[in-house]
Amino acid sequence: MQPGAEAMLDVVDVGKRSLATYRGVAPDVQLDELLHLAERLRGARCMHLNATSYGGGVSELLRSLVPLYNDLGITTDWKLIHGDEAFFQVTKRIHNGLQGAPGELSESEKAIYLANAQLNASRLVSDSEDYDFIFVHDPQPAVLAAISSLHDARWIWRCHIDTSHPTPSFWEFLSPYLRAYDSAVFTHQDFIPPELPIRDVHVYAPAIDPLSPKNFPLPDDLARHVLEWIGIRTHRPLVTQVGRFDRWKDPLGVVRAYQRVRPHVPDLQLALVGSLALDDPEGWEVYEEVRAATAGDSLIHVLTNLVGVGNIEVNALQTFSNVVIQKSLREGFGLVVSEAVWKGTPVIGGRVGGIPLQLPEDTGGILVSSVEECAEALLHLLRQPEEARLLGARGREHVRQNFLMPRLLRDHLRLLNHLASRRPLPARDIVPAFVQAGLPGV
Ligand code: UDP
Repeated sequence: MQPGAEAMLDVVDVGKRSLATYRGVAPDVQLDELLHLAERLRGARCMHLNATSYGGGVSELLRSLVPLYNDLGITTDWKLIHGDEAFFQVTKRIHNGLQGAPGELSESEKAIYLANAQLNASRLVSDSEDYDFIFVHDPQPAVLAAISSLHDARWIWRCHIDTSHPTPSFWEFLSPYLRAYDSAVFTHQDFIPPELPIRDVHVYAPAIDPLSPKNFPLPDDLARHVLEWIGIRTHRPLVTQVGRFDRWKDPLGVVRAYQRVRPHVPDLQLALVGSLALDDPEGWEVYEEVRAATAGDSLIHVLTNLVGVGNIEVNALQTFSNVVIQKSLREGFGLVVSEAVWKGTPVIGGRVGGIPLQLPEDTGGILVSSVEECAEALLHLLRQPEEARLLGARGREHVRQNFLMPRLLRDHLRLLNHLASRRPLPARDIVPAFVQAGLPGV
């Protein structure tokens, strides 16, 4: 470790990726535009900042995006803020409050949140680093723009959650700190909170990586083998929900819908897969509730990252399930919906937040607003496999056009170009990796 390095934020090691490998998978037009957009940003330096390197949609996104930025010649780091359990208890309350949960922060909770921001601000960059763009993801590190000394950077707040109806006490606390941002990005027009103090606002959705271990095509026999290994009986029908153990994802509602269908399809299995993330202390409580509600039923499989259920297992479950459910009550986007649909598996999704973007009419699956509707849709899809297959096939093309990583990278680079045109970048002469290697690019 270099002298002083122990005081700095952790940098996530993401490895190398090449945009050229998406040719033939993602739409050509998106890849072509990307090359053009990247030309003007060559040599720029960018940082993405969030709270965790695993266990949620943001880490999933950054693991793919950051190496692709680097591949295009934009030198990019992914850093993690530090936080202890008390801090993450507070940020989970802020997360819930911004999504509309009632309550307010106590003075001591505010103090914990702000003291943590001070600590992280002092560890943000070493003397040799400077950044042109800093993306701050979600509320946990959101205060940093206001208190950091990095005034030359263009700061972007990327809010991934549904902030359409924040509980006023939480919003009034956080929003003054957002004034320091140059731009904000939301997943949906409706999520832009009232009286946002950031003028330059952009709207674009996240995306999945079709080439990641979570999403690459798995041969049928390998998928079966992986599933048998974790206790799934592959000769029986299967319905799955994948998501953090979070009340907004309504895992208990999924159990109730499943229990309604079970008398009609007695050998139906349910897999509930949830990761327990470092920045989500509430996950343990919800996990215990789910365990209690499903105890003694050998056809319900409650699986977590802690018993080794990782990307390949999630891939196999999403590929092999007859139906995937995402019965959220609030949902910023829900990458899991596109992940399943990309595998041709129909999804029953809660009619909330970013889910309807992924399941337009007769495409990808069925939207529901209650346990009863969820049970009805599940029984319907299990009884009509041809309709289920067609929904999945149409959904896959919708995902290909709208929710694959090159489209998201394109939207990022459009935003960076926009910001660079408002305030020019310093001249630097770094050449993109594919040019250095003498490759034709993508
Ligand atoms: N995920 C996973 N294992 C789990 C739970 C979630 O790999 O047990 C992944 C899931 O496949 C998806 C991401 O974590 O890629 C969750 O993103 P999403 O947008 O659905 O929800 P978020 O956690 O961001 O609210």
